[in-house]
Amino acid sequence: MHGNQNSYMGRNPLRIGVLGATGLVGQRLVHMLVGHPYFALSAVAASDRSVGRRYGDACPWRLPYDMPTGAAGLTVAACEPPLDCDVIISSLPSDVASFAEPAFAAAGYPVISNSSALRMDDDVPLVVPEVNPEHFGLVDTQRARRGFDRGFVVTNPNCSTIALVLALAPLEARFGLESVAVTTMQAVSGAGYPGVASLDVVDNVIPHIGGEEDKVETEPQKILGRLDGGGLVHAPFRVSAQCNRVAVQEGHLESVRIAFRDRATPGEVAEALEAFRGLPQQLGLPTAPARPLVVRTEPDRPQPRLDRDTECGMATVVGRIAADTIFDVKLTLLGHNMVRGAAGAALLNAELLVATGRI
Ligand code: NAP
Repeated sequence: MHGNQNSYMGRNPLRIGVLGATGLVGQRLVHMLVGHPYFALSAVAASDRSVGRRYGDACPWRLPYDMPTGAAGLTVAACEPPLDCDVIISSLPSDVASFAEPAFAAAGYPVISNSSALRMDDDVPLVVPEVNPEHFGLVDTQRARRGFDRGFVVTNPNCSTIALVLALAPLEARFGLESVAVTTMQAVSGAGYPGVASLDVVDNVIPHIGGEEDKVETEPQKILGRLDGGGLVHAPFRVSAQCNRVAVQEGHLESVRIAFRDRATPGEVAEALEAFRGLPQQLGLPTAPARPLVVRTEPDRPQPRLDRDTECGMATVVGRIAADTIFDVKLTLLGHNMVRGAAGAALLNAELLVATGRI
């Protein structure tokens, strides 16, 4: 990553403040910002537990790399404006995000959020950069409605939704989606740190993740919806989701069955997925994967441990594409919940906002 040339390189980096910087997603962001060509980490913020302490002391660092020295010496601030930065990336729990993110936007900061708090508000863009970058246009409606001047909030989807919708987008465009049934097997890191107790999840599968099925059943239609005037018309297909927590550290696996409006064979589905590229690839954004969708043909792939780091964790890996006896086609997909599903999703949104002149 960070290898591509682009028009922003050579300018002064924009200063990023991370809300929830001591959490699992925040740590990923802190790591991904090292050496970034557009951005430099200038502020970290978290809860009262951490405020006033050195980041290096307050943060229970859980990545298999050393904490960046520049971050370790920062003093953790409170999650309220002002913060010493130009742009906010938020990875706060949703109850906190529901008031902290609008407060930063009202104070003039662009806010890019991982949280679910504002995702489904009809004036808040819910964007996967390869899929619906035009939805950034909702920012104008948001500013007019909420009285924001320079600030705004844009969001990225739930970690399971992102992996799924990357695969659904080219299929909706080519064949039309009628209905989608998805069963997720989600990694423990999706619950944050310390997350699910080991005694609950080792030697076990937990068939319930609070609020998750509702998110997976409603976010794809917003993302694949179309702008109409200042508003958004959600796509009409239906999604049925069953979400399970499994004893995997990182990487959400999803078994998907799809019924199309037009006829589609497994071969045509594989072809549509492999050909898919979006604006981040055209623009050569630093965190953009060269291939947002990677199709594997082995009978036993994708697997979390073997495939989650494909394209530095920024691709959805799809395999086991076959005809289905009830729906039209079935497939298995995998996304890295911490990278493409969270930190990398927000960072790619931030890069696209810069590259398109909205920041
Ligand atoms: P986490 O590990 O539990 O971290 C939570 C962060 O929020 C910590 O920095 C914590 O600070 C801070 N925080 C908690 N309560 C706060 C308060 N009252 N005021 C200010 N800061 C507070 O969670 P996470 O996994 O990083 O997830 C963060 C957000 O991203 C959540 O909304 C989650 O749903 C979303 N998300 C997570 C994933 C994933 O795969 N993990 C994927 C997509 C989206 P302290 O350390 O000071 O307590």
